[in-house]
Amino acid sequence: MTTPRTVTIFGATGSVGQSTLDLIARSPDQFAVQAVTAQSDVAGLAKIAIAHHARLAVIGDGSRLADLKAALAGTGVEAAAGPQALIDAAALGADWTMAAIVGIAGLAPTLAAIRQGRTVALANKESLVSAGALMMDAVAASGATLLPVDSEHNAIFQCLAGGRVEDVARIILTASGGPFRTATLDRMRAVTPAQAVKHPNWSMGAKISVDSATMMNKGLELIEAHHLFPVGLDRLEIIVHPQSVIHSMVEYRDRSTLAQLGSPDMRVPIAHALAWPARMASPCQPLDLATIGRLDFEAPDPVRFPALALARAAIEAGGARPAILNAANEVAVAAFLKGRIGFLDIAAIVEETLRRYSPAAPTSIEEIGAIDREARGHAISRAESVRID
Ligand code: NAD
Ligand code: MG
Repeated sequence: MTTPRTVTIFGATGSVGQSTLDLIARSPDQFAVQAVTAQSDVAGLAKIAIAHHARLAVIGDGSRLADLKAALAGTGVEAAAGPQALIDAAALGADWTMAAIVGIAGLAPTLAAIRQGRTVALANKESLVSAGALMMDAVAASGATLLPVDSEHNAIFQCLAGGRVEDVARIILTASGGPFRTATLDRMRAVTPAQAVKHPNWSMGAKISVDSATMMNKGLELIEAHHLFPVGLDRLEIIVHPQSVIHSMVEYRDRSTLAQLGSPDMRVPIAHALAWPARMASPCQPLDLATIGRLDFEAPDPVRFPALALARAAIEAGGARPAILNAANEVAVAAFLKGRIGFLDIAAIVEETLRRYSPAAPTSIEEIGAIDREARGHAISRAESVRID
């Protein structure tokens, strides 16, 4: 028997975190859970830590340490709390780390995991959007293996196996189009948070579900792809594919196009990253193409989904722009989910924040943190001015 690989899961209580733990629990001899983390759900985190025999549980909210200690009393699981404890958990150096915190909050722990030089499975796209160049530099410096878990990027990674980036003509990211793919602007103006988080194909956390509805998710993924697969922005395209069966495609210069297909279940790309470069069995549904019957494609609508052009312009301009885009979007999505602004205000707030704030390009993680905070301030005051309650 081989020794189990140590694994750490950042964002263990979330949608991606739970899918990861589901796969790990099915192969108990192969994985030993080192650390699990969550932001505020003490009971949920303690339950996970106990069920998976974790060594350490970390709650991001520093004021919840006593609660977590009480929940773990007598179990042998160590408890820690606060942002520094998240970074310390990464520094334990698990063989394999899942980065599945949502938002820029994931940047510091993800970077700390990368600096360990082991394998990091990346779901936390916002960190790459805001600090892509610095993160990719850290990957190169530490020799870490960064495996994309976002289904599109995982598909591209698989389609690139055995190929050379120089031979790539185009990378085509597929997008479901979200719940409002065919909605009129008038209808989109009035949609509620409950309608926006109801994704037609995927079950995901609230923030990414709203991002899918505005298609900012695809904008963030364009930026993510630009950092992970440096083929040039002019070779990155987006196509709407409502069935979410093809997760993305790579076209080579001989015009041969490779696609990765699978059920819309995050455990498919997560299993790929868990077993890579081998393969493991997953409990996911096999594709039933005869039942699916047809695959449709259409161009995205730039008028109803302005987030796409905002994201492309941000990465074309580079510097601080992607970090500002991300920060303003996080603020606007949170305000929308609280019912404080309308759905169409999300992209409007991102656009206005980008227009009002133009700092110099960041050269360090600290500078990205400062830009993120400043951009949030701009976005919050804009969100206050459009309050609908
Ligand atoms: P989620 O909201 O379900 O879970 C988020 C996790 O992060 C939770 O464990 C939460 O406790 C933790 N967290 C939240 N704020 C935190 C903070 N400030 N500090 C520390 N921890 C914090 O989110 P999700 O849908 O699992 O998405 C996680 C990441 O994966 C996101 O970046 C998302 O874009 C990406 N992703 C998700 C999916 C999906 O299917 N859910 C697919 C592709 C990519
Ligand atoms: Mg995706």
